[in-house]
Amino acid sequence: MKPKQINISPLNGDREVADNGEAILNLDHGDPTMYEKYWHRMGDRTTVVISGWQFTSYFSDPKNLCWFLEPELAEEIIRLHKMVGNAITNGYHIVVGTGSSQLFQAVLYALSSDTTEPVSVVSAAPYYSSYPMITDCLKSGLYKWEGDAWSFDKDGPYIELITSPNNPDGFIRQSVVNRSGGILVHDFAYYWPQYTPITAPADHNLMLFTISKTTGHAGMRIGWALVKDEIVAKKMVKYIELNTIGVSKDSQLRAAKILRVISDGSGLAHRFDGETFFGFSHRIMELRWDLLREAVNKSRIFSLPNFTPEFCNYWGRVFQPLPAFAWLKCKDGIEDCETLLRGHKILTRSGRYFGVSPSFVRISMLTRDQTFNLFVQRLSRIHSWNEER
Ligand code: PMP
Repeated sequence: MKPKQINISPLNGDREVADNGEAILNLDHGDPTMYEKYWHRMGDRTTVVISGWQFTSYFSDPKNLCWFLEPELAEEIIRLHKMVGNAITNGYHIVVGTGSSQLFQAVLYALSSDTTEPVSVVSAAPYYSSYPMITDCLKSGLYKWEGDAWSFDKDGPYIELITSPNNPDGFIRQSVVNRSGGILVHDFAYYWPQYTPITAPADHNLMLFTISKTTGHAGMRIGWALVKDEIVAKKMVKYIELNTIGVSKDSQLRAAKILRVISDGSGLAHRFDGETFFGFSHRIMELRWDLLREAVNKSRIFSLPNFTPEFCNYWGRVFQPLPAFAWLKCKDGIEDCETLLRGHKILTRSGRYFGVSPSFVRISMLTRDQTFNLFVQRLSRIHSWNEER
């Protein structure tokens, strides 16, 4: 018998069809396709045209510490942080990277290149599942993944990664190791007003951001670091020079354009308009979290974290965090939540990848509307481990 053809159009990458014709909902990756709808509505306002003769050089701004950073992008990054109020930029060096994933590696290199023994790298569980894999993939002699920061008690220098709001569980975090000899790296991929109340501008020594989760343009592969220390910033630039000799100019110019459209449209007069980027995204996140909590209540065998509402300086009101991932727990002694959901053709990522129990799973909240709607419908109908699947 010929195998059944699976038709995946570019717009349907998060949904394949199983043999019985039921859609397989892939919510494992945090692919931010939810945002396509907004950018589609913006039409040509974000179009960038680059001719064959333009931007051919390796160099963007030779006098700048980060010589491959396009000045236009730097300008728009500073403007957006000022408008949102989520980070201080004065007194910081901006280092652009091929996604914040490359910047993370540049940070590891920059913070460990002078030490004689491998620097321990830790993060409080549940931690972002890529940290251990990226840290150890080259078996570097410079740094080593040492796991959960809560139980870290080794002597010597260490790097603590603080993801806030946290991937996977959405909570705001602070450092947990609290001893001397440590360097803190703040991953602020989700510190944006569609996901969490902006309570103060962040001003830590080393902060990472990514366009992937800010605007939904994961495919551009653009991230930026705000770095206080000039020597650290120079070493990060050196790493990116050795790794990829800079960062795609085409992507940087596209990113600059997208950020400009967001800032132009989000001045005080328009901030609360559903047509602004953050207005649109925040409303969708509120709606999705309401639908998800309703489905979880109906199903009775799952639970979700409860968050404390906080005042958001950007929106001028109190709201509860609306994380980019749902951190779902199976109740009633169900040990393996990923397998349970897989049986219902919902693909998620098990808690064990985040350093905790497999009774948890991480589920992307940033998928396309149709996939999300199918997901909540399906979830609300799961009442026990044993029911027919
Ligand atoms: N940090 C965190 C906490 C993330 O969730 C992600 C994306 N999943 C990244 C970094 C990597 O982002 P990028 O696409 O910019 O490499």
